[in-house]
Amino acid sequence: MKEAMIENQLRQAEELCKKRNARLTPQRLEVLRLIAQQKSAISAYNLLDLLRQTEPQAKPPTIYRALDFLLEQGFIHRIESTNSFVLCHHFSTPSHNSVFFICNRCGRVQEYTTESIKHILHRMAIASGFSITHNIVEPHGLCLTCIKVQAY
Ligand SMILES: [Zn+2]
Ligand SMILES: [Zn+2]
Repeated sequence: MKEAMIENQLRQAEELCKKRNARLTPQRLEVLRLIAQQKSAISAYNLLDLLRQTEPQAKPPTIYRALDFLLEQGFIHRIESTNSFVLCHHFSTPSHNSVFFICNRCGRVQEYTTESIKHILHRMAIASGFSITHNIVEPHGLCLTCIKVQAY
């Protein structure tokens, strides 16, 4: 993402937190900035490494607390299959159903919001008497750039 776009997202997060009376501390904002700057999903461990460049005293709980807060506010998503985090591009719709396309080569994650996948899963669940509490759809494969690279 371009620097200006990142700044724009961060301003939006600040405004939403003000409205919600949520405490977006400078440290939490910094973690959000670090996630926004990544081209691919990033693990908590790698985030800690990056944060330590500006805050050498940062410890794992610092990162986990910041991630919990950002998840709660809907600013980021956890990618379960790779245990990593990405920025959400739909801040203003706090609850949405997303499908994450994950590139196995470069780690890029593309988020698509869709309601239909939820309906399909619920229909299947109803048919078998299952009750869904949480669903994750994370197809793995290759992004367009990586398909082109592999073709050569
Ligand atoms: Zn999202
Ligand atoms: Zn890729």
